Order: sequence, then structure tokens, then C-alpha cells
Amino acid sequence: MTKRLEGAKVLVTAAAQGIGRAIAERCAGEGAIVTATDINRDALAELSGMRTAYLDVREKGEIDELVSDCQPSVLINCAGFVHHGTILDCDNDDWAFSNDLNVTSTYRLCRAAIPAMVANGGGSIVNISSVASSIVGAPNRFVYGVTKAAIIGLTKSIAVDFASSGVRCNAICPGTIQTPSLDDRIAAQGDIDTARKAFVARQPMGRLGEAHEVASLAAYLASNEAAFTTGTVHIIDGGWTAG
Ligand code: NAD
Repeated sequence: MTKRLEGAKVLVTAAAQGIGRAIAERCAGEGAIVTATDINRDALAELSGMRTAYLDVREKGEIDELVSDCQPSVLINCAGFVHHGTILDCDNDDWAFSNDLNVTSTYRLCRAAIPAMVANGGGSIVNISSVASSIVGAPNRFVYGVTKAAIIGLTKSIAVDFASSGVRCNAICPGTIQTPSLDDRIAAQGDIDTARKAFVARQPMGRLGEAHEVASLAAYLASNEAAFTTGTVHIIDGGWTAG
């Protein structure tokens, strides 16, 4: 059977661990030529079956160079940071950092990649947002929710502007997914058992999501199986926002 990303050139940001890593591995398994990027060189070195490259998504020069080098037909924007707190805990620096890492990075990558996608007849962009965005407010996720809502707006705008050029752009909104950074957020709350139970309780399914479940959706959206899908927001949250 033909693999659904055979021949696709896939660039994934924040691919050294968690959701980004699962997406890079899934895309490689689907036949894509993957460039997995991150700022964590040690973790990138654990990946096999794909090209790896250091890329800080806050650095426009690095992005332009890498995108020009690998000319991706598929771009997966996964980099993101979770700031903990309300608006009163979010000072100017927190606001600027989260917006730069979560939103401006996505703008930079898309702006760098779209011209070649158009010139080559099309492409697919998948942006990792969150249900904590314009879907639902989550406690202590003020600037995170702001940035993830902005990603949905960015996604829809690109979808509309480039639909006729063959460039699709979709967003994924995960609920709570088991990743190394989730473990860090749980540990930061002190009482690990209670904190983990509270994260699990958000999902009516009574469990956390797995990174490979998000990767499966990302690979579908990246592929031609989703050729008629653009500007959409895909929730994958174990029922968190279904009620
Ligand atoms: P993670 O936090 O476990 O890993 C983040 C990766 O980003 C790390 O490998 C890190 O080195 C890399 N990174 C950090 N700064 C970077 C930079 N400047 N340039 C490039 N890479 C950088 O990731 P995760 O929990 O799998 O989350 C991935 C994405 O999914 C994020 O956008 C996150 O907001 C989103 N998300 C996660 C969850 C969840 O529950 N885990 C839920 C909803 C959305």
C-alpha cells in the first residue's frame, strides 16, 4: 500500500520531544522526507530515519536559511510555551516571550515557506494550537490562551488567502497530552498525585491524550487525503470541550 506522505518534504518545529517528535516520527513512517528541528541538540540526536537540524523558531535568519534549503511541501508548526498564571501574573516580558515563541514564530515559518509552496503548486501547513484558546478558557492559561487563539486566526487567514494557490492551512487543538513538558507542569505544582488527577479529570474519557494520537491527525491533515480541508480547527481532547 502507498504510504500517504510518500515524497512529501516535511519540516517540523519543536520536534525533539513530545507532540513534535511524535509527528516527525509518524510522517517519516508515512514515507515523508522529514527535517526535524529543535533547539535541544541532544534530544534531536536520538531521532533516526530523518534529517535533524538546530532551529530556534525565534530567529528569522535561521528560519529563512533552513526553509530555503529544504523547501518544505509540508510545514508543521509545533513550538509553544505554556506560561502559568492569570493576566496579573503576566508582565510585559512574559507577554512578549509567549507571543514571540508561540505566534510570531508561526508567522515567521509560514511567511518563509509559503512562496515556494505556491511556486511548486501547493503545500500543507499544520499549526498546533490548543483547546485553551478561543475554544475554551482554562484557569491560569492567560497568555497561553491568547497566543493559541491567535494561531487559529492566523490559520484561517492563510487558508483563505492561499486556497486558490493550493496551499492548505489547518490547526489542531489538543486537550491534555502526555508529554515531558506536561510532567514538568505537574511537578511544578508540588503535590504530583493531586495535580495529575486534576489534569486527567479535565477529560471525560478519564485519561490523558497520547502524542501519537495528535501525530495521526497531523499526518492526515498534511496528506492529500485531506485535500479538500483547509481553514479548519480540529479538536482532539478526549471530550474536554464537548459538553
Ligand atoms: P514540549 O513542551 O514537551 O516540548 C517542546 C519542545 O519545544 C522542546 O523539545 C523544546 O526544546 C522546543 N523548543 C522550546 N523553545 C524552542 C525554540 N525557541 N525553538 C525551537 N524549539 C523550541 O512540547 P509538547 O507538550 O509536546 O507541546 C507541543 C505543542 O503542542 C506546543 O505548541 C503546545 O503548546 C501544544 N499543546 C500541548 C499540549 C499538551 O498537553 N502537551 C496541549 C495542547 C497544545
